[in-house]
Amino acid sequence: MEQMPKSKTIALRQKLIGPSCQLFFKKDPLKIVRAKAQYMYDERGDAYLDCINNVAHVGHSNPAVVKAGSEQMAVLNTNNRFLHDEIVICAEKIINTLPENLEVCFFVNSGSEANDLALRLAQIHTGNTDVIALEHAYHGHLTSLIDISHYKFNLPGGVGQKDHVHVAPCPDSYRGKYRDNQHSLDETGYLYSEDVRKICDEIKKKGKGVCAFIAESFLSCGGQVIPPKNYFENVYQHVREAGGICIADEVQVGFGRIGRHWWTFQHYNIQPDIVTMGKPMGNGHPVACVVTTREIANSFRRTGVEYFNTYGGNPVSCAIANAVFDTIERENLRERALVVGEHLLDSCQMLAKKHKCIGDVRGCGLFVGIDLVEDPISRKANKKCAEYVVQRMREEHILVSADGPECNVIKFKPPMVFTKENVDEVILTLDRVLKEVRHQEHLDAKIKSIQNQPQGVPTVETHATKEHRPRRALIEETIKSI
Ligand code: PMP
Repeated sequence: MEQMPKSKTIALRQKLIGPSCQLFFKKDPLKIVRAKAQYMYDERGDAYLDCINNVAHVGHSNPAVVKAGSEQMAVLNTNNRFLHDEIVICAEKIINTLPENLEVCFFVNSGSEANDLALRLAQIHTGNTDVIALEHAYHGHLTSLIDISHYKFNLPGGVGQKDHVHVAPCPDSYRGKYRDNQHSLDETGYLYSEDVRKICDEIKKKGKGVCAFIAESFLSCGGQVIPPKNYFENVYQHVREAGGICIADEVQVGFGRIGRHWWTFQHYNIQPDIVTMGKPMGNGHPVACVVTTREIANSFRRTGVEYFNTYGGNPVSCAIANAVFDTIERENLRERALVVGEHLLDSCQMLAKKHKCIGDVRGCGLFVGIDLVEDPISRKANKKCAEYVVQRMREEHILVSADGPECNVIKFKPPMVFTKENVDEVILTLDRVLKEVRHQEHLDAKIKSIQNQPQGVPTVETHATKEHRPRRALIEETIKSI
């Protein structure tokens, strides 16, 4: 419910909230007062189709999740030092979706806490400190994670690269160091994995071992990148040979988003040593988890240091996570992600045939990216176009975002209740918006050609009758005629 006018909320926010906490659409932020399923509503009651929110996984305000949380809150919520059922029920549900070696859970409150604990477990188990992460990856906001998140430490004003951190190239076959127009996908995967092997060799040469390799299974902040099939398989081998363990960050891409599997690492022939999960797990409520092997959990136990996390795994959080799991199953949401996701991917590919600013369309399930380019041959990123699309889609009441190193990839990661009709609405609107971009480019090119003409010389488009008109008039006429 709205408790004050939007202008007052903005004024109070500017005064009271840390200025680094940025909002979507910062120049004119949306004030969202309620949300339901795949729609969000502003203070005037206007609906926005949500293509961004991978947190509201089973739909905003999902009744089963709300019921589970409120019922548990009315009965008991306490820290996890008391024996209760919800945490073990939740752990069992998680373990049942994972390979057998991943059998021990630690409950925490956020993706960042999960990755921080994963790093701690890796350090304790291996006795090493050197971490390998990917270019443009993000793993969380804690200091330990900013240190390994190239997306953050590499910014102007960022903390820079620490000695124990090694950054491997993003295994992007479209616009990375090794491209699919120069190599087969297998070669691309192999070449990128060799870069990780070289990093492992350098660490070994210094008489050290690797602590961990951490990566998202599909790279969201990296620009919706899907690593080639053989990449992780090779990388895991090199990392393990260098004494390290392998962490799959499933904070964004887990819980069936890609449809075919519960976890995106299952798209590959690999078994991580640690899996971290968060965001969708609580459908907006803060709950997250680290799952690991018995061996790694035992190394932690042998230190004799107790792990205590006041809120991690409390009865309310776990009841909510259990309801999320049950809803995914009951409503066949993985199947839906697959079917609706395929329709989204196909429709985006059709759009790509019409609009040459779409360089690449990639995705799986409800994880899809549209890579916007200045021209399809050079594949030069088109950030301006992405900014325009995000802004215009918002004006059309459809929320999308842009990411990737050059912020030119339009991301789709909607709630899993998204429908084929929603896809059709998005595609129709996007088609219209991209036509405007083309129109604008056409207009810019015409105006530029007119401006580049020496005064008094007619332009190519100028008819004899227009020859002597001043240039300004020609520009205005051109604008009107397009
Ligand atoms: N890992 C990944 C891949 C993420 O995208 C995020 C959040 N965007 C995190 C970790 C951190 O999660 P949280 O914000 O819940 O701490």
